[in-house]
Amino acid sequence: MTVSMRCQAMQTILETPNAPAPLEKVALETYVPPAKPSLIGASRAEIAERLAAIGVAPAQRRMRVQQLWHWIYVRGAKNFDEMTSISREMRAQLEAHFTVARPEVAAEQVSNDGTRKWLLRLPSGDSLEKAHEVECVYIPETDRGTLCVSSQVGCTLNCSFCHTGTQRLVRNLTAGEIVGQIMVARDRLNDWADRETPSGGRLVTNVVMMGMGEPLYNFDAVRDALLIVSDNEGIGISRRRITLSTSGVVPNIVRTGEEIGVMLAISLHAVRDELRNELVPLNRKYPIAELLQACRDYPGSSNARRITFEYVMLKGVNDSMEDAKLLVKMLKGIPAKINLIPFNPWPGTRYQSSDWDQIERFSEYIFNAGYSSPVRTPRGRDILAACGQLKSETEKLSVRERQALRAMAMTD
Ligand code: SAH
Ligand code: SF4
Repeated sequence: MTVSMRCQAMQTILETPNAPAPLEKVALETYVPPAKPSLIGASRAEIAERLAAIGVAPAQRRMRVQQLWHWIYVRGAKNFDEMTSISREMRAQLEAHFTVARPEVAAEQVSNDGTRKWLLRLPSGDSLEKAHEVECVYIPETDRGTLCVSSQVGCTLNCSFCHTGTQRLVRNLTAGEIVGQIMVARDRLNDWADRETPSGGRLVTNVVMMGMGEPLYNFDAVRDALLIVSDNEGIGISRRRITLSTSGVVPNIVRTGEEIGVMLAISLHAVRDELRNELVPLNRKYPIAELLQACRDYPGSSNARRITFEYVMLKGVNDSMEDAKLLVKMLKGIPAKINLIPFNPWPGTRYQSSDWDQIERFSEYIFNAGYSSPVRTPRGRDILAACGQLKSETEKLSVRERQALRAMAMTD
């Protein structure tokens, strides 16, 4: 599949000119789970355990888990009352202990090209701390509908061209909050099993882990969530239609193939370590050679299942023809496709997007070398719809910021 969008967040700027960017931030914010936990994001085994804990008899558990799974993930039930194949007493018992709550939608925007963006409010550490927010974007295309999903509030990494990296508040999302983003999109689009469409097809057909955060720094929750999303007795989005994008957390790349089995996208952005250290500081820990080796070792990659290499086009930084040549050379032997992304500017950034002519020249060289190299084009501009363009309500946008942001929404 072609990775379908450009997603990065719009946050507070903490630029320190000339100082080397720290590799990563520490301290994850805490998160207090709600008193009545949501069953969304729990595996079948976990649901069975929870049922056992409230006294459901062992002989009944398997069937109850199946019923719940169907109601939650095929029918999109929003409360236990809707689950009419489950006895009234059982429903009351479930209601007393659990919910099927999704993240709260704080804002919704619909673009005139059909792109939709939701700002989701999530619980924070305590009532004094402001609520955590992430965003999720739906991009309809003729042959598919792609949902761009976040894995963390903010990001602990500090890529110099990415706005999300400048956000201070960081915490991992739970598996439920990740699956919850798909649930919210299906709710809002009325995209559950009983949806009446001429084709009977679904609106959300693809998922890209390209919203806020580094998914491989939240490996367990992302894995658990994606196994639920791809479960064909539930949400049923196949692994080939799910793409996980990473800045290069090498130890977890092979695990992604083995334990999740989704398509892989690598945020490469530079062909020399010196430059990549600056753009993607994680490169200091896992340099290009190690990253490419992990790609060669990626289980299940083939010419039919290529790894996508994302390459943000930064004027005068990484966009020379020398870079293009080296890029082609270094990907030799890896089943790859290359996604060129015009840089999405944000207020205060020191980078500019490459000129269109240069992007075309670069793209043509790559194409002639035998690589598919789509360049992403903007979508949903009227609602600032690239993932991350929505700012939290506490931070108002200036007119200048709005203008800068308008240029940002990208899909291919
Ligand atoms: N953390 C993961 C996934 C989220 S970012 C990663 O880095 O891969 C998704 C993609 O958007 C990455 O390729 C990232 O490098 C790119 N990106 C971030 N900021 C950007 C910007 N301002 N313009 C264009 N692409 C950007
Ligand atoms: Fe942004 Fe991804 Fe880098 Fe995090 S890892 S700062 S989300 S580009």
